[in-house]
Amino acid sequence: MSVNVEKYREILAELQGKAQLVAVSKTKPSEDIRALYDLGQRDFGENYVQELVDKQGQLPADIRWHFIGHLQSNKVKYIAPFVHLIHGVDSDRLLKEIGKQAVKAGRTMDVLLQVHIAREETKFGLDDAELAAVMQAGAPVGVRIRGLMGMASNTEDQEVVRTEFRQLKTLFDRFFPAGGLLSMGMSADYPLAMAEGGNMVRIGSLLFGKRG
Ligand SMILES: *Cc1c(COP(=O)(O)O)cnc(C)c1O
Repeated sequence: MSVNVEKYREILAELQGKAQLVAVSKTKPSEDIRALYDLGQRDFGENYVQELVDKQGQLPADIRWHFIGHLQSNKVKYIAPFVHLIHGVDSDRLLKEIGKQAVKAGRTMDVLLQVHIAREETKFGLDDAELAAVMQAGAPVGVRIRGLMGMASNTEDQEVVRTEFRQLKTLFDRFFPAGGLLSMGMSADYPLAMAEGGNMVRIGSLLFGKRG
């Protein structure tokens, strides 16, 4: 088993009362998820639809599955019946499809809008104007927009990362004045994300080891 139990406990203690932990289990076997589940972890994050569907079928029904990857509209239907929170909604089209599939599945789906904060062009997400437009249009029937998600630049420069998280927090405060979920921070930068006001962190490699 490659789960780092000590690290898990350490992180939980650090987050206590401040942020929720989503344990990112993409590419890791179900046994590893089961090991953390047995320690009480219930929120797990996955990036790939087929992998998520397979694991959901093999693991306990009370796991809260977070979809944190880039979601294609034509695949929403596969996860709509059970997914707990979709973090990476980055288009109006995707939002509408989630609404359609939520209604079909007879449930309300919680989502986060992904904002592009990194310098890297390759990362997904809405820019400020697109975010404003989606917020103005409001959530379709069957969808609740619960907050924002973002990924900082992959850089050693802490000031760059801090600035990006701060920018996301500013948008969050503007669009969610009554509060909500702010999903930011991964293994390399979650302490900074929390310091800047994030309340949900997505941590993979620190818990499950490096991905191959
Ligand atoms: C893989 C992934 C993570 C976890 O990354 P680690 O560096 O392993 O903690 C978090 N968020 C997203 C969107 C990811 O794709």
